[in-house]
Amino acid sequence: MNRKRSIRRTTVAGLAVAVLSLLVACTQVADKPETAAGVASPPPAELVRAKHAMIVAGHPLAAEAGREVLAAGGSAIDAAIAAAMVLNLVEPQSSGIGGGGFLLYYDAAGHRVFAYDGRETAPASARPAMFLDAAGKPRAFYDAVVGGLSVGVPGLLRMLEAAHDDFGTLPWADLFAPAIAHAEDGFAVSPRLHQSIAEDAYLKTFPAPAKYFYTETAEPLPAGSTLLNPELAATLRAIADGGPSAFYEGPIAADIARTVSTASRNPAAMSEADIAGYRAIRREPVCLDYRGRRVCGMPPPSSGGLTTLQILGLLRGFDMAATGPQSALGVHRLAEASRLAFADRNAYIADPKFAKVPVAGLLDAAYLAQRARLIGPRAAAGEAAPGLPPGAARRAAALPDEARNLSTTHISVVDAAGNVASMTNSIESPFGSRLMVRGFMLNNELTDFSFAPTTQTGEAVANRPQPGKRPRSSMAPTLVLDADGRPIFATGSPGGSRIIGYVAKSLIATLDWGLDVAQAVSLGNRLNRNGPTELEAGTEAAALGPELEALGHQVDIRELESGLNAIAVTRGGLEGAADPRREGVALGR
Ligand code: GLU
Repeated sequence: MNRKRSIRRTTVAGLAVAVLSLLVACTQVADKPETAAGVASPPPAELVRAKHAMIVAGHPLAAEAGREVLAAGGSAIDAAIAAAMVLNLVEPQSSGIGGGGFLLYYDAAGHRVFAYDGRETAPASARPAMFLDAAGKPRAFYDAVVGGLSVGVPGLLRMLEAAHDDFGTLPWADLFAPAIAHAEDGFAVSPRLHQSIAEDAYLKTFPAPAKYFYTETAEPLPAGSTLLNPELAATLRAIADGGPSAFYEGPIAADIARTVSTASRNPAAMSEADIAGYRAIRREPVCLDYRGRRVCGMPPPSSGGLTTLQILGLLRGFDMAATGPQSALGVHRLAEASRLAFADRNAYIADPKFAKVPVAGLLDAAYLAQRARLIGPRAAAGEAAPGLPPGAARRAAALPDEARNLSTTHISVVDAAGNVASMTNSIESPFGSRLMVRGFMLNNELTDFSFAPTTQTGEAVANRPQPGKRPRSSMAPTLVLDADGRPIFATGSPGGSRIIGYVAKSLIATLDWGLDVAQAVSLGNRLNRNGPTELEAGTEAAALGPELEALGHQVDIRELESGLNAIAVTRGGLEGAADPRREGVALGR
């Protein structure tokens, strides 16, 4: 893994720029405009331009680490790795080496899109009924999240290793230098991290996070306070020097297994063999033609790619450009298409090693055209039912997911050679399972399995828990290629199952409405997950509520906190924008 040039540690100047950007971000939070109803609307995103290379990430220090790597001649995957390690430190509620992720990568030399699956796996002890209570009913969500039961074997490092083996240009160890430096020198607790700690009821119930995230008087660490994480620095140094095997085997793996198996809440057996056996998977991306472009996404076990593409496919026959972003009819069609896509998602999509997912059938043009005929002039009554895509055995509808959207993070990168990385990483809920090992948080990704293993009619649910299985995700790192197969747009977001709606909005805003990337991420969110039509409070989308109600929609106006971090490759150069609803920035060179 020792190749080519090395990069320096974060410079004082780099640090100053990042801290300054963070302060600007804080000011933006404070200056959020208030609507009459008192709900803050997001400020418009900044459009950042660059000639050669760009990264958009969820925190200024992470974006800065990525930019340094790009400046040192690193590839898009190199920059994404450096940024992901810094995010583990500074945005510990969202992602990290104790979790997983999905990556789409455009290789400029080979003109091809690759997909990497770093989703967590259930340990051998997992059972279909693991999330049911003694009476056989699904447990309350947080009752299952906190502690050992929800922890999947982390996948992030093996995924990054696979992508770095394929496309890395800088040495693996160098990519860890910025995160190690910040962990040893300290970083400022951001307003969002402070808020996540303050809102959390469980973090302080475990000794390690209770010590790390709180003051000596047990107050949540205030925004702006300096936090050091020498334990994480030591962990990252071991992984930098020894590669991911230093994490998957030996003392770190032993600590993970022991922490999960002996947790004071929901202890659940995870063995060192479960951890050593983890494999990242190189998969075929799923792609669909839309308005003369090719949109590519992550295949199962994520539903993010297929469901986003189904929404686009269902809308192909409608003139979305004509209705524009500020039209109730446009939102109506988007919502109805989304309802149909979510019905198929809930019924058919799961880990393909365990369930026969009709991938081609779900994207079949004739099937989508036939399903699109269900989109009428008014909202259909009740929940949409799943269809019967070609090659599928009919499945009954499974219960919809709980909605959660406070953690997870998306990174988009374009390097000087034109390679593009679009990567979404997660530990699932804020601070995951709340279990902390050697300076990092362990995920609660297994609660992305369906809690009820059978439908009401007794049929096995595709996304039921099983040993060795990957829970269905909604993460949707996405790449759009032009008619010549060149990348023109990278997008993705956190947001639980709302990720799909956020990403679909950013794609339609770009491909149908011709909005620039800053406008596309800022635009008020509007989505439907086969339930109410959700409109973002305080935005122009919410203003469409009464008209949508008149069209038969059950409207829910609420905060919809996307974290769309996107880059457009235009004729004039690179344009990037970080979602103004979170703390990210776009940095280029
Ligand atoms: N665990 C979720 C998923 O894989 C993401 C959680 C989030 O975005 O907050 O779909």
